[in-house]
Amino acid sequence: MTDQAPYPIGTPGQPWGDSEKAEWRSLQTRQRSYETDVVRAIESLRSRFDVVEYGRLDYAPDTYALLAIKSREWRDELPSVLVTGGVHGYETSGVHGSLRFVEQHADDYAGRVNLLVAPCISPWAYERIHRWNAHAVDPNRSFRDDSPAEESAALIRLVAPLRDRVLVHIDLHETTDTDETEFRPAKAARDGEDSVPGEIPDGFYLVGDSENPQPEFQQAVIAAVARVTHIAPADRNGEIIGSPIVAPGIINYPVRKLGLCAGITRARYTTTTEVYPDSPRATAEQCNAAQAAAVCAAIDFALSQ
Ligand SMILES: [Zn+2]
Repeated sequence: MTDQAPYPIGTPGQPWGDSEKAEWRSLQTRQRSYETDVVRAIESLRSRFDVVEYGRLDYAPDTYALLAIKSREWRDELPSVLVTGGVHGYETSGVHGSLRFVEQHADDYAGRVNLLVAPCISPWAYERIHRWNAHAVDPNRSFRDDSPAEESAALIRLVAPLRDRVLVHIDLHETTDTDETEFRPAKAARDGEDSVPGEIPDGFYLVGDSENPQPEFQQAVIAAVARVTHIAPADRNGEIIGSPIVAPGIINYPVRKLGLCAGITRARYTTTTEVYPDSPRATAEQCNAAQAAAVCAAIDFALSQ
């Protein structure tokens, strides 16, 4: 037990049912526009890239077109690169960092790789600055067969034909102060568990795949991002968010077992970025730049091998 105030929805120790989820959903309000911030930015890229609608979310009264950006000159003999952002809609720099990568850097890779960029996997949550979709499901535990999240299922379908031909997949995230103040307590309440206090690391870090860790690749990404923003130190236990670091700024998870986005391809090189936007030492601009730098470094490393 903890001495925190109980989460305002549900009964402590009992998992939420449909009525608690409906109550939660009724409290979520639209705070920004996917259409204005994301769809328009993607539309402005149509002169240089192909845009595909790979699914549609129907959360009445709202619907959302799921959009991905593709290299116009797609050539099957080239390696493919998958960039995903906004799997967690509130993690703003994942969305805008992936768009920034396309706007400013994608042309540098023309004729060398095929790019597939899905900047905002979870638009309902982007608008509500939340982690879950409208059904209180975390898309980033849902990249599995018979997914409970349509956001995840749609991306799996988009990527399925390429699954064995992706060389690099980089999934862009953030770790924020609201993880500790809101989202971890909400998850514990939803699941009928106690909320265990944790720490939020100050700085950028990466989550690799413990089944395919590729340490030199991860270190190359860290080195590139360190020129843009600071890397998170380990805590006094030598850990970041409860996992032992394997190198400065790097932890590993079994990404496929956990149903994480980074496990949806058979890519040789995969990583998940975690930017810390609440740091007094990092601006929003720096966070977007850090995400774009991570994408470039990931591709550059893979192409150098
Ligand atoms: Zn995330």
